[in-house]
Amino acid sequence: MQRERVSDNVYWFQSEIYAQVTAGVITGPQWAVVIDTLAIPEETLAMRSFIEEELSVPVRYIINSHYHADHTWGNCFFPGATIIAHSLCRNLMISRGQSSIEAAHHQNPIFKQIKLVLPHITFDDGELSLRVGKKNLVLFSTPGHSPDGISILVEEDRVLFTGDAFLPLPYIVDGDLDELSITIKKIGKMGLENIVQGHGDIILRGEIDDAVRENLAYLAAIRKAVRTAARRKNPQDAIAMVDIESCGKSRVYLGGLAEDLHRRNLRALLRQALEEGSSEPTTDLLGSKIE
Ligand SMILES: [Zn+2]
Repeated sequence: MQRERVSDNVYWFQSEIYAQVTAGVITGPQWAVVIDTLAIPEETLAMRSFIEEELSVPVRYIINSHYHADHTWGNCFFPGATIIAHSLCRNLMISRGQSSIEAAHHQNPIFKQIKLVLPHITFDDGELSLRVGKKNLVLFSTPGHSPDGISILVEEDRVLFTGDAFLPLPYIVDGDLDELSITIKKIGKMGLENIVQGHGDIILRGEIDDAVRENLAYLAAIRKAVRTAARRKNPQDAIAMVDIESCGKSRVYLGGLAEDLHRRNLRALLRQALEEGSSEPTTDLLGSKIE
């Protein structure tokens, strides 16, 4: 596990085992707020030891940026903590969480100790503020990667923890391309010092504009490529030809996972395009909103 100090009382952790997934902690004099947990139990436990033993504060709150396993399965290692999330996160964990945990228990013994722990406090619209020591955290909805996505702004430092709403390669298989584009644009206008992505490295102030542009261009490129492919006789073969570089991204992103995620993005978009195309042939193939 990698660890870095982002600003005063703000730390970042990154997995060296699973997909460069990240987590964070903001500490006050008495207690700390954790943002997401890591996918592998051993790494979440190492993060907990660092907070409790080296920073010498207990974890009072955990904020889950969204319901996906790689961000929430460590909740169970903080039995005294109150979990905060979007209300859709709680609903999705109820409907999908238990079955995926049971599947993981069978697949790999390292997940044996994982138990589903649902959010205790949830919110829907607007913002939720949480004060920890000298820092004000502002939680707000950033959907698109998944419907329940939230981001957490450390107001004093202009540091934004985005969960998977911002990634080295946008991923929309469980989300919505248009919603994610709106979210990314909104993040780009926030005047941030750092973006802490749900996977990958921290984006510094001078890199933010390029990262925003590149992600928006990628989403536009895959939408265009899938629209074109959907009109072909054999759309599956047509999307197989759309490589990640032609959409402005590199396959080395996310420890080499990027190519696979790119393929899944294309297949998910094509599925949507073909379903919508068959039921309502006169509408836009991707049902996208006109801006
Ligand atoms: Zn993730």
